[in-house]
Order: sequence, then C-alpha cells, then structure tokens
Amino acid sequence: MPDTTTTPTPGNAIRDMDARHHLHPFSDTRALNQRGARVIARAEGVYVWDADDNQLIDGMAGLWCVNIGYGRQELIDAAVGQMQTLPYYNTFFQSTHAPVTRLAKAIAGITPGDLDRVFFANSGSEAIDTVIRMVRHYWTLKGKPYRKLLIARENAYHGSTLAGASLGGMGHMHRQCDPMLPGIHRIGQPYWYGEADGLSEEEFGLQRARELEEKILEVGPDNVAAFIGEPIQGAGGVIVPPRTYWPEIQRICRKYDVLLVADEVICGFGRTGQWFGCQTFDFQPDILSMAKGLSSGYLPISAVAVGDRIADTLTEHCGDFNHGFTYSGHPAAAAVALENIRLLRDEGVIESVATDTGPYLQSRLRGVIGEHPLCGHIEGIGLIAGLALVKDRQSRTFFDGDVGTVCRDECTAAGLIARACGNRIVLSPPLVISREEIDAMVDRLRIALDRTYARVS
Ligand code: PLP
Repeated sequence: MPDTTTTPTPGNAIRDMDARHHLHPFSDTRALNQRGARVIARAEGVYVWDADDNQLIDGMAGLWCVNIGYGRQELIDAAVGQMQTLPYYNTFFQSTHAPVTRLAKAIAGITPGDLDRVFFANSGSEAIDTVIRMVRHYWTLKGKPYRKLLIARENAYHGSTLAGASLGGMGHMHRQCDPMLPGIHRIGQPYWYGEADGLSEEEFGLQRARELEEKILEVGPDNVAAFIGEPIQGAGGVIVPPRTYWPEIQRICRKYDVLLVADEVICGFGRTGQWFGCQTFDFQPDILSMAKGLSSGYLPISAVAVGDRIADTLTEHCGDFNHGFTYSGHPAAAAVALENIRLLRDEGVIESVATDTGPYLQSRLRGVIGEHPLCGHIEGIGLIAGLALVKDRQSRTFFDGDVGTVCRDECTAAGLIARACGNRIVLSPPLVISREEIDAMVDRLRIALDRTYARVS
C-alpha cells in the first residue's frame, strides 16, 4: 500500500523511507543514505526547522529562491484562490487566461528597456532551453541560419537539462552525460580574486570581456547567435565581475550583432538591490531569463523576456513557434508570481536591499570575518555574497582538500544553512532578512569558520 498519510512522521522514519525510495538531485545518494538526509519540516520568515525541531537560519533562501521569505499568507491565498477558479488551463493553441496575462504585463513593467514580451516555462533550465531555441530560430527567420553558435563562460551554471548543462561551464556535469550539445564555445570567467594575476579589477574586467571578441573572431562573427552570462555567477561561487566587465561585453555584442542574454535566474527579483542584475551592472540584454525569485519558490515557474527586435520577428515572420510546455504559464503559479511581485514592490523589499540590509550584510561580513585566517576574499553586492576560503591569505593559496564542504557542515552545526561551491562559501538569504537576523547569520558563520580552522589548520 502506498503511504498517503499526512500526519507528521518522525525524522527517522522519513529518513528511512527517503533512503529506500528517493534519488536526490546533485547528491551522492550512497553517502547521503549512510548519513541520513536532513529532514526539513517547516519554515517561517528566514528560518527553517528540521524534524527534530532544530532552528536554522536559511542563509540560502532555499536554492536562492525564497526572496520574499517563508510563510507569506498572501501567496498561499493567491494559489488557493486561483486553484478554486481555474486550477489549470494551457496557453497553447490560441488560449490564454487572466493570471498569465497579468503576469506577463507585470514582468514587462519591471524589466529594463523593451523586454516587453514574455514566454513562460517551469524551471530555470527550461527557460534556458527556450532561449537557445529562440535565438537559433530568430537567426533562421532573419535569413542567417548559419548563426547558430553560442558563447558562454567557464564555471557558469545555466541549469541541468541537456541544453542547460551543455551551456554551463561545469566540467563535473559534462563528464556525466557526454556528449554535450554541439555549437557551444566558452570564454574565461571574470573571477578577479582567483585569476587576475596582478591586474587591477578594472583591467581584468576588460581583459576577460575582450576574450569574447577574440572568440567571436576565432569562430567567425557570422556564425555566432548569442552570448549568455549570469550577471553574477551564482552556483559558480558568487563571482562578482569587475564594474568594467558588462559594459564592455555589451559593446562587443553590439559591434558584432551578437544577441546578449542575461541569465537572471538568481540575480532577478531584487537579489542585487535592483529588480535585475543587468540594472546593477549597467547593461541592456536582448533576452532575459528568470525563475526562482519570480514566485519566491512557492510554485515552479520561469520566464524569458524578449525585446522588440526578437519578439517582432517571432510574431511577424514565424508562423507557429514549435516550442512550449504543458505547464507554460500555469494559472496557480502565475497568480502566485504576480502576488510575489506585488509584495516585493509594495513592501519596498528591493529598496531596502539596495539601501539598508544589502550594504549592512556586506559590511558585517567584512567586519566580522574579513580578517579571519581562512578568509581570502569576500565579494558580494546586495544580499548575495561569496567567501573564498584559503590556506594562506598572503599568497592566496587555496586548500587541496574539500574545505568548503567542511565549512558548510560546520555552518549547519552552528545553525546556518550556507552553501559550499568548491573552495567558496556562499550566502543568499531571503530578501526580507532584518539587521538582527543578519547579525545572527554572520555570527554563526564566524563560529563555523573558527571550527573549520581548528579542523583544517
Ligand atoms: N540559470 C541559473 C543562473 C541558475 O542559477 C539556475 C539554477 O540554479 C538555473 C539556470 C536552472 O534553474 P532550475 O534549477 O530551476 O532549472
């Protein structure tokens, strides 16, 4: 008999069931089963509680997504209300409905420039697949079917579908499902602290951006469809580019008529103190992908916003665009996303990230752990930050072993959910976090760093 009970089950029973039946994403399932999964039972504000009632500060907002914080009744009501009226209808074949239409308009209202038309999907990965299909189709419609190549970056993350993983620059993902999608080229990442070799931030930003020009010339400008990048690389460890980087990337894309795609799956919806990361880094994409913070993770939904140039071509010259998902623009997810945008706007959440909690987090991190012997460098803006863990601060020597995971586990033991990305610890808490909660988060990180230091030094 399937277990359909809804009464709370003790953590151990859940762990046993989980070990027997659940294959986890991005996990070593054998190691996980030996240790037992952490069972998260409930959440409120910036806190989650495990099944043993331990309280943790969620320094990652789930997976960089619960921007509005947990437990918002308004979002629950939006989902319930929509499910009562119209729980599902599709947007294929000449149909639409009110929530998806209102959401498309709301997105057009907050995205910069002319990104006024919106295609919906369910995950960031599907949004990225959509981008690839759109840009290739666009160039075919423009009479340039040879413009098929995509340029992305080392250590980028663009999702886990075959197309998303192919576009991303994560070798460990490529190795597991070789061969990847053809037609993708890569340039270096703008990781100043780890790779600049003596250049100033400004010089290095320009140098890395100009690798794009070199790559375009190498593969032939007429063959390149688009360049895609995250304004800040998130899963790569929160790599914040030098200020010179994105304007130069934009200049090069315009020069060679290469479409510029901003993957805002993490940066979107206030993370950097503006609605979108491209606004913080001062560039205007032709296409913008979003997910996560769009619904604050309450229901799965993603979107791709496109400018007039592409939208007009797809609209006027395309006929059917043979692409879409059963749940593209799902009414309940759209209603939740719409309410989430309203809350972010009406409660001034993003302004406070820009002017209050964001600067406060960045200065607390530097004040409390900036001189810690394990802390090589802190980078971040708004409510996203990455910390490079080093063996030797002077020479910028990194550890050989997996010190990030050790520190991540010490964070959990200290009551903080952080994430390890190689030798980096990253934070991306709910955007509604208060100054007091930031203090508690940074204090717990300090404890974890001390304990890590005691273990690895
Ligand atoms: N793009 C970026 C920049 C991401 O960070 C992610 C996920 O973390 C994705 C795409 C994929 O999103 P999803 O996991 O919803 O498929």
